[in-house]
Amino acid sequence: FGYEAIKTIPLAEYRPKLDAALANLIQNGTPYDLEFKIRTPDTGQVKDIHSFATYDPETRVVFGIIQDISDRKAVERELERLVQVDTLTGVFTRHHFMALAERELARAIRYAGKMSVMMIDIDRFKSVNDTYGHQVGDRVLKELGLVFWAVLREADIVGRMGGEEFAVILPETELTQTVEVAERLRKAVERTAVPLEHGLPLSVTVSIGIAPFAGAKTNVDTLLAHADKALYEAKREGRNRACIFEN
Ligand code: GH3
Ligand code: MG
Ligand code: MG
Repeated sequence: FGYEAIKTIPLAEYRPKLDAALANLIQNGTPYDLEFKIRTPDTGQVKDIHSFATYDPETRVVFGIIQDISDRKAVERELERLVQVDTLTGVFTRHHFMALAERELARAIRYAGKMSVMMIDIDRFKSVNDTYGHQVGDRVLKELGLVFWAVLREADIVGRMGGEEFAVILPETELTQTVEVAERLRKAVERTAVPLEHGLPLSVTVSIGIAPFAGAKTNVDTLLAHADKALYEAKREGRNRACIFEN
């Protein structure tokens, strides 16, 4: 098939970039070195491609390499996923949470938006591990990940900050709404029963600290510290409750 047919193989989003690179190569002799995706005409599979080309205007010879880098790209994507998502609970890792939180806070500051932060910690989790073993503890953590998924909105950002400690950013959310969400979350955790091989299903509770977005001068670390302080209050007042940060 001809050149026009070949041009339809790269996915549409890459065509302008490729066309420009080809034109620049032939007209100006500028080499290109690009990565893009194609759809193979026979099986319709999408593949990652690396292409490199130079052009010699005197001999009018194009020298190029076209390489299938799908396997490497798949490994890269998997590594990126592992860096971003906690494998046990399915929520974001601390590292990725912090990056997303920074972005969300910048947005809230720029548009004078609302936003809240919650810090969540399982109550007396050490005794769960001590009584039932670490594996059961891990199953509780996994179950908690599902509760977050069920209760929170898609826009909310959940991160596992440490062993049994989680943080949530709620974009575009007033304090009163955040308190409602925290209460829904607290009740949902309380209701959740993790089945055991022997004996009755196991339930845990969580304590929650809430910090509202406090204006343009704040930063993510400060918000988390405020939520942490409120969490400490919730623990001190008897656990299985949510507290709001007060200065
Ligand atoms: P509190 O109500 O004050 O939060 O009591 P706690 O026992 O939950 O608090 P503490 O911070 O003293 O203990 C946290 C425990 O969480 C310690 C550790 O045994 C457990 N833990 C931390 N990470 C993991 C994990 O990945 N898996 C399991 N199974 N347990 C973990
Ligand atoms: Mg705890
Ligand atoms: Mg803890």
